[in-house]
Amino acid sequence: MGDNPNPLLLFTQKSQGGGAVSAKICKARLSALNMSVNLSSLKFFRSLRAENKQFAVIGLGRFGRAVCSTLHGLGYEVLGVDTDEKKVTQALSDRISAHVLQLDSTEPSALQEAGIFEFETVIVAIGNYLAESITTTLNLKEGGVTHVIAKASSETHLKLLQKVGADHVVFPEREMGCSLARILTKPSILERFDLDPNHSIVELLVPEKFDGKTIADLDIRRRYGLNLLAVGRADKFEINPQPNERLKNGEVMVVIGSNKDINRLPI
Ligand code: ATP
Repeated sequence: MGDNPNPLLLFTQKSQGGGAVSAKICKARLSALNMSVNLSSLKFFRSLRAENKQFAVIGLGRFGRAVCSTLHGLGYEVLGVDTDEKKVTQALSDRISAHVLQLDSTEPSALQEAGIFEFETVIVAIGNYLAESITTTLNLKEGGVTHVIAKASSETHLKLLQKVGADHVVFPEREMGCSLARILTKPSILERFDLDPNHSIVELLVPEKFDGKTIADLDIRRRYGLNLLAVGRADKFEINPQPNERLKNGEVMVVIGSNKDINRLPI
């Protein structure tokens, strides 16, 4: 984190000193974001250090506020930033983060003065202002921020963010849309983890056709090309269940395999 081990301390010092940045500091959980996870995003999330306890969120719209308040609720130090005084005041009164600052993130000097370049992870939650979102992301990367996560609101926006160096881009509207379509078409699939575009791990309700059958009877690997990883009963999962175990309606099973094979399950 550069020379200053605690950037939040830096903010406090600056606001007390009445620096050029108009700072408002106050003492004050990620809502279920169904983002698709694949190998490249996994690499990114693994690169985030577990001990990283400080985040800055730029843009306090609905998305930015949700990120702020969830991180804050989980006990992380979060700095919320917005150019709009009303958004800053609202964030302060709602206590969605430990620190809130009013600044224009398209100004590299404002970001530097606020110590935002010292943060290891910064989230750019500016969806509707394309130029501001791109410029902010570029500023953060040029300022040396290791992990910049940015929100895109269109395919073009997503590509531009990647071009200026965003380390990870989320596209909540598209991700939620895909997720909703999947839930509507396959309601018995409870959870899906995309390994790559063709392979997944899915958690699903035991299909009616499997009720009362043993794992050996079902012969899932030969018939469907899938591996059964776990069976969930009540609130506990049994990993690598034995072949003589019987599956029942209402239980949950976790399988791994190709999406083509998963789609052949009688669900
Ligand atoms: P959503 O609710 O989906 O997040 P929104 O319409 O609430 O969308 P956006 O329009 O994407 O939010 O903007 C997010 C926030 O970013 C706004 O509160 C806006 O004031 C803030 N913002 C825009 N430009 C800048 C900037 N240059 N510096 C700091 N904050 C900015």
